[in-house]
Amino acid sequence: MAANCTHSNQIKDVTPSARGCEDCLKTGDTWMHPRLCESCGHVGCCDQSKNKHATKHFHQTRIA
Ligand SMILES: [Zn+2]
Ligand SMILES: [Zn+2]
Repeated sequence: MAANCTHSNQIKDVTPSARGCEDCLKTGDTWMHPRLCESCGHVGCCDQSKNKHATKHFHQTRIA
C-alpha cells in the first residue's frame, strides 16, 4: 500500500493567516513565494526563500 500523506487529507477551505510568510513578516525578513498550508491556513515561504518556513511548518505539523 502506498504511503498516504495524512496532511493532504485535511484539505478544506482555509483563509490565509497573512498576506505573505507570517514568520518572515514577524522578523522583517523577505521571501520569494508564499505557500498556504491547506489544513490550517498557515502561510510560509517556499524552498527558494532562504528561511523555508513552509517546509519547516510542514515537518512540524506532520510530526504532531
Ligand atoms: Zn518565511
Ligand atoms: Zn498547517
